[in-house]
Amino acid sequence: MQTQDELAGAVDKDLRNILINPNAKDPRVLGVRVWPQAIPQFLIGHFDLLDAAKAALTDAGFKGLFLGGNYVSGVALGRCIEGAYESAAEVVDYLSQYSNK
Ligand SMILES: Cc1cc2nc3c(=O)[nH]c(=O)nc-3n(C[C@H](O)[C@H](O)[C@H](O)COP(=O)(O)OP(=O)(O)OC[C@H]3O[C@@H](n4cnc5c(N)ncnc54)[C@H](O)[C@@H]3O)c2cc1C
Repeated sequence: MQTQDELAGAVDKDLRNILINPNAKDPRVLGVRVWPQAIPQFLIGHFDLLDAAKAALTDAGFKGLFLGGNYVSGVALGRCIEGAYESAAEVVDYLSQYSNK
């Protein structure tokens, strides 16, 4: 079992690799919380539910409202980041209809 300092250090190391400047200042650790049952995963049928939610938004006239986050892209942080790029592309595509070309 790792100590809280070891857990915070491992997270910091990973984030430096994937997100931020490797030479960034040391993080200020506000707390460490251990979730013994790990990350919840999507249930079977999740993507059908998501498709239904997106269709319901369109049907209700909410064009231009986009769903995003781990329940759309996938739970893992890397997928959340990829999903954010996908959402940004979706928004740009949507807004391009209003641009004066
Ligand atoms: C304890 C824990 C451990 C995890 N460990 C891992 C791991 O080891 N590896 C991994 O790949 N993934 C891990 N995950 C999963 C991953 O971190 C999450 O799935 C991911 O961070 C979710 O990203 P998100 O953008 O959907 O949501 P969040 O990161 O929760 O971002 C949502 C943001 O919206 C803001 N917000 C909320 N409501 C409003 C509002 N009304 N107005 C404005 N802003 C608002 C919040 O403040 C927050 O900044 C872990 C998750 C948890 C909880």
